[in-house]
Amino acid sequence: MELLPKTPSTRGPAELFTGDVHFDVIAKGEAPSQLRVNLVRFAPGARTAWHRHANGQTLHVTDGVGLVQSRGGEVIVMKPGDTVYTPPGEWHWHGATDQDFMCHLAMWEGLAGDQDGQETEWAAHVTDAEYGAR
Ligand code: MN
Repeated sequence: MELLPKTPSTRGPAELFTGDVHFDVIAKGEAPSQLRVNLVRFAPGARTAWHRHANGQTLHVTDGVGLVQSRGGEVIVMKPGDTVYTPPGEWHWHGATDQDFMCHLAMWEGLAGDQDGQETEWAAHVTDAEYGAR
């Protein structure tokens, strides 16, 4: 086994996020594992851009109050202990509410050796109108 000391948090880049987002890489499996686990912290109003994961994603809220929406769906409130699964290829975004911080674990899988495409595909930022639509 190996003890992996805490590493510095990384700021989520402005091309992919709105507002202040920081993440810690908890696990990144070495092949054949494609395990990916990040702890992601969002300040109030902060959110991802629209994106989708080739192999889907599981989110587990550890603190605060968050929002998540699939393309064409309702904006859903998520709270500590809630788990949200977004299936492969489903466009979505996630973030904090405008009044709360939110922290979640994000768990997904990278591309298998025989898979083409992108592990995560990013699109437009979530507009204030989209974010406020609830
Ligand atoms: Mn996602």
